[in-house]
Amino acid sequence: MLASSPMPNLRLVRLLWAILISHSLLFAPLLLAAAPMEPLNIVVTIPVLKDLTEQVGGPHVRVTSLLSGYENEHTYSPKPSDLVAVRKARLLFEVGIGLEVWVSSLVKNAGGASLRVVTTSKGIALLRDRPDHDGTAHAAEEDERGNPHVWMDPENATTMMRHITEALIQVDPAHATEYRTNQASYLRKLDQLRGDLSDRIARVADRRFIAHHPAWPYFARRFGFQIVGTIQPQSGSEPSALHLHGLIAKIKNDRIKVVVSEIQLSQKIPELLAKETGARVLVLTTLPGGLPHTDTYLDMLRYNVLQLANALDPA
Ligand SMILES: [Zn+2]
Repeated sequence: MLASSPMPNLRLVRLLWAILISHSLLFAPLLLAAAPMEPLNIVVTIPVLKDLTEQVGGPHVRVTSLLSGYENEHTYSPKPSDLVAVRKARLLFEVGIGLEVWVSSLVKNAGGASLRVVTTSKGIALLRDRPDHDGTAHAAEEDERGNPHVWMDPENATTMMRHITEALIQVDPAHATEYRTNQASYLRKLDQLRGDLSDRIARVADRRFIAHHPAWPYFARRFGFQIVGTIQPQSGSEPSALHLHGLIAKIKNDRIKVVVSEIQLSQKIPELLAKETGARVLVLTTLPGGLPHTDTYLDMLRYNVLQLANALDPA
């Protein structure tokens, strides 16, 4: 007959115990790991860094950008809410190269002991601002090291994203694979877009433009545009009357068709140049979110290149 001896029952009890114990041992760490972990608090200086960080970090990061996209990155002054954000942050991503002159005091005043500041431009070859056509030697921007607007070139944005991914992995190694996968899929999209944009620019014959502030040399070099003059010889400084006269003469003599301004700056001088010369003012953005259809870095890149190509070469 079945189970006439007590042995099988005893075995069954032992087996059940064994299962219970092994399960609790096995699953205890799993339960801990699977428990919803708070996302990492991260502060970035400008919106392009927020986008890149969210692309890699997905649901595991909570990113606050100090600039929203409408402010001037050179003259920003931190708000009380910025202090709060920095106080809570584990990581702070900046561009560096003297762009965010206002960030170091913020970190000193509000940064916790565990806050790590990551300079995402590390390793990028910098361009220096050149003397302009009127012979004025233009100092490099806020910093002697070179022009800080590196993110305007997608190749540099790739380097910046790699720094971000590395930092996320160091702070949160549990999601390393996910971060690497996200980075790879984003960089594929970026490559695809670069190819599409290059195809469009290839059909533009005259690629010369006047820039408003020195934010465009990396962009111009990457996409084959040519900056023939800059309204602000240095970021944040107003041009002299002499400088403007020189620009007007240049636009007329060389038949320059486009003055690129930026939504973050005053349109007064670009409009004056346009009125004097018949050139067209095109308002672009150096920060994602500054204009409609520029919410992400990819959107901004597409918008800036296509608008400029269309303005130079109205097909
Ligand atoms: Zn700038």
